[in-house]
Amino acid sequence: MPKIISYQKGKGIKRMTSMRVVKRFRWSMAHRLIHGYKGPCASLHGHEYEVEVTVTGEMDAVGMAVDFADIKRTCLGWIKEHLDHTTIVCESDTALLDFLQRENQRHYVVDFNTTAENLAIHLREVLQKELNRELDRPLSVTHIRLLETPSSWVEVP
Ligand SMILES: [Zn+2]
Repeated sequence: MPKIISYQKGKGIKRMTSMRVVKRFRWSMAHRLIHGYKGPCASLHGHEYEVEVTVTGEMDAVGMAVDFADIKRTCLGWIKEHLDHTTIVCESDTALLDFLQRENQRHYVVDFNTTAENLAIHLREVLQKELNRELDRPLSVTHIRLLETPSSWVEVP
């Protein structure tokens, strides 16, 4: 891991260590693929999704880059509020969207086909925004691994 040595007036030499901190979260969600996709995932179905979020920050005087509990509160909080036990639906899938609205079903509307790849990119964006909003230290979401099943996943570097 890279070590940056800096000099701070009155504090002498300070070693700053960049650290990657990783948390995993799970949730249940339904989806289907559109835009001409012909495989089995064109039918509405569900997954027990799992995401591994890697957050990079500088270690502080306590010896922490970020508290695991803060990542959990921020990231899992957002996932539970927006995704857990919902159907994720593309705004152009009007038949499914109409059904979800008419039946008052929990749903989360996006502007992309709900592939694992697109969802992983979306999660990186929204979780970065949540960390910026909730925590008062500079942190970057530097890696996302999103699993649709225990043996199938995508990664956003
Ligand atoms: Zn699927």
